[in-house]
Amino acid sequence: MHEFSIAWNIVEIITKAVEDNRLIRVDTITVEAGELRQIVPESLEMAFDALKTEGDRSEEIKNCRLKLVIIPQVVSCNDCECEFYPEDLCYLCPQCGSINTTVTEGEGLIIKSIEGETAE
Ligand SMILES: [Zn+2]
Repeated sequence: MHEFSIAWNIVEIITKAVEDNRLIRVDTITVEAGELRQIVPESLEMAFDALKTEGDRSEEIKNCRLKLVIIPQVVSCNDCECEFYPEDLCYLCPQCGSINTTVTEGEGLIIKSIEGETAE
């Protein structure tokens, strides 16, 4: 279950953000995950909820909500430069039939935003 290690990293990032920005409360963290990461949203949420309330975690993050946005994959053709969504994992260019294609989106995992409240 790789969702657990992802959730762990997310909690670590929030914890650091709380310290760096002196947040008194974190409300929402938005994570964008590429389709190819094959994250099961329910599993990630479960792991996140378990980790954020762990004993030694700071109070500030215990009510934080995880918002997961799945980014669909995009493949671009290196020969005719068209971009397409691969149906059934078929990476052949639908326009010119080339196999010289590159996945340009759908592999990443990024923290889009962390919303909370600062002390002042
Ligand atoms: Zn093409």
